[in-house]
Amino acid sequence: MKKILLVTDLDGTLVTSGVDYGRAIHLWVSAFMERFAHQIPHYVGYDRAVSLWALAFMDEFVHQCPHYDDVTKFFLESLERNERDRYFVIGVQRDRFAGSMVLAYQDLCKHFHLEFSEAFARRTFEIGWGFGEISIIPLLSESGNDITTFFLDSMKRLDKERYPKMRAHRDRFPGSMVLAYRQLCEHFHLEVSEEFARRTFEIGLAFFDEEAYRKRTMIPGAAEMLSFLRNPDVEAALYCVTAGDMRVQWAKWRGYNLKRFFPTIAEFRVVKWEKEEILKRLRKLYPYRDAYMVGDSIGSSKNGSGDLWPAYRADFIPIYVAHPSVWDNGDHIDELPPGTISLDKIQKIPSAIYQLPLL
Ligand SMILES: [Mg+2]
Repeated sequence: MKKILLVTDLDGTLVTSGVDYGRAIHLWVSAFMERFAHQIPHYVGYDRAVSLWALAFMDEFVHQCPHYDDVTKFFLESLERNERDRYFVIGVQRDRFAGSMVLAYQDLCKHFHLEFSEAFARRTFEIGWGFGEISIIPLLSESGNDITTFFLDSMKRLDKERYPKMRAHRDRFPGSMVLAYRQLCEHFHLEVSEEFARRTFEIGLAFFDEEAYRKRTMIPGAAEMLSFLRNPDVEAALYCVTAGDMRVQWAKWRGYNLKRFFPTIAEFRVVKWEKEEILKRLRKLYPYRDAYMVGDSIGSSKNGSGDLWPAYRADFIPIYVAHPSVWDNGDHIDELPPGTISLDKIQKIPSAIYQLPLL
């Protein structure tokens, strides 16, 4: 068997961390609604139901969940449309709202090409049923009193603005949440609660720790692929190069037990910004091996961002495994670099490298 060097990205390639941002957003919406909904004049939105539903959805479909912003907005819009249409037909009826939730979930599956789960449809109905007594009459709801959309839009703007300076710094996302909360207060003429601002920061941070990661699973096929390459007969040199906050990435290393595959600081490399330099250094350690770099982020031919373009420049063969949730963080996204191997599943890597049957 040929001896290879394989470097892998972490987030979006071995683990799904993007979903944590979505979880934080919806936990925040629930907490906010519980505390302040009564202060918003004429509030008749779906935020509470949608946040509960979204949390359940992200738990159930962790690794298939598209970006939380797309999922949430699509679901909200579809729910509103279904409610309006059905209100004319069946009027005030307790199961109308729960039924509309299920229809919105069905629309969402079609739109994002997800398999419709009967079990999750029942779960969706139950969540909606819990809100049945709150008789939301859809004709009364106006745009402008939808907390979730306002918060999501502020978050998107603020987080993008703060990204070039802060990158994956642990405090970036929670800090953006606090700023978005302040903007929301201004918009809805609410007094800012400093205590709730602190709580907001905590909610934003809640998932960036070892405890949270310990409860997670890796992306299906990732552990199998790494175990295969770790097999002494294969003799692959295996590294993980990840860009991010030191504290957060090492919490993932402990929580997901990545020691199995990357035993020491020599194999698990956290970089603050770009990956190209470290890739070039690793390449020099194994000049006579075929070198591969696996990642979900194409990056740019014009700057050092992402996985695949830096890998290409460092003389690796890029392997692209896309994640359903795309995190571009405002970086310029390019075409795939020349010679990239594109795979739909990470477990296909050994067969692509060694021409073996599938794991
Ligand atoms: Mg990635």
